Amino acid sequence: MPDSSSWRPETLAQHLGEEEYILGAVTPPIFQNSTFVFENWDQFMDATEYRGGPPYHYSRMSNPTCEAAEVKIAALEGTERCKLFVSGMAAISTTILANVKAGAHVVCVDSCYGPTKQFIQDYLPKFDVSSTYVVGEDPQEIFDACRPETTLIYLESPTSIVFRLQDLEAVGSFARSKGITTAIDNTYSSPLYQNPAKFGIDYVLHTGSKYLGGHSDLIAGAMCCSQEKMETFTMTELPVLGNTLGPFQAWLVLRTLRTLHLKIKAIEQTANTVAAWLKTRPEVEQVFHVGLDDHPQKCLRDKQMSGSTGLLSFVPKDQRRESVRAMTEAMRLYRIGVSWGGHESLVVPLEFQALDWPEKKWVVRLYNGLEHPEDLIADLDQAFAKAK
Ligand SMILES: *Cc1c(COP(=O)(O)O)cnc(C)c1O
Repeated sequence: MPDSSSWRPETLAQHLGEEEYILGAVTPPIFQNSTFVFENWDQFMDATEYRGGPPYHYSRMSNPTCEAAEVKIAALEGTERCKLFVSGMAAISTTILANVKAGAHVVCVDSCYGPTKQFIQDYLPKFDVSSTYVVGEDPQEIFDACRPETTLIYLESPTSIVFRLQDLEAVGSFARSKGITTAIDNTYSSPLYQNPAKFGIDYVLHTGSKYLGGHSDLIAGAMCCSQEKMETFTMTELPVLGNTLGPFQAWLVLRTLRTLHLKIKAIEQTANTVAAWLKTRPEVEQVFHVGLDDHPQKCLRDKQMSGSTGLLSFVPKDQRRESVRAMTEAMRLYRIGVSWGGHESLVVPLEFQALDWPEKKWVVRLYNGLEHPEDLIADLDQAFAKAK
């Protein structure tokens, strides 16, 4: 068995968890089976004391194809374990549920993914769980929002509309000193550009529907954490919530992981080129992009992230609804649609509002895919002309 401890992410993504070639197949087969059968009583009894890994007994609990992808994602995130879920929201809501009880309190970043906020703010009160929202840029604001009954701090850094960062190390060490659990939605960065567990964050979450799926053809989610937390999860939530990913989707994730580093670099360069062009345009009031040289949280970014990815947004100077509509409808390469992380560029027009941004403003979010940056810029240029 090769020693994988010194492997870099590019090598891990190819080989980790695949040291054995089943019948010589260079890619692992899809174990498209629900159950696993046993030779005898002892083997069966061992398997039902599930700890992850062989012997497998039922695919709701674990499956070799899923584990091949989980082992790689955990290694890329620098966590001991990873579990794949049927969606990003399944990973998020399950992790949150696992870390609250009646009477508990959650501190959450205000501009996090919409349905995440909906779950914490509107759904959890059913179970007598309350919450407080923070802008999140100043760690002291997060500390001040915590109460004796706070059990969870939920982060999303950067957020995915105006790309705000939270100080992972400061929040991680504060939370540990108070016995509060921390979770982060790390989807923007992918496991390649930010590893929050290194800064003391307990749960690192991804929607696999974005970069980990990578081709706009699947819905999935991932939860990365320590062996200890995964063991508790395996005994507590996993058997009863039953929302883990099936083997075929996991195999698609596995396929994408192999080339993710090449793709992320390409879209990073493209997004940086598009952002720089937008900054020169008279039609644009403000550009939000993690990769900008003058990003307001540049120091923090450089400390905790090793790059920026394909999403950016801008505030059009002309805030009339009709103008924003004309501009987005005129775009040809950027198709109107939610989500991101695939091969194709997308545009989302939205009226943004946040705690420290009370007045609604039109923001146009662009996901920059694998098209040539000059073609994308030409597309924006002609769309701007049509908006006038
Ligand atoms: C899309 C998205 C999610 C939800 O993921 P699904 O797989 O669609 O459930 C969560 N967080 C962020 C930041 C997202 O962009």
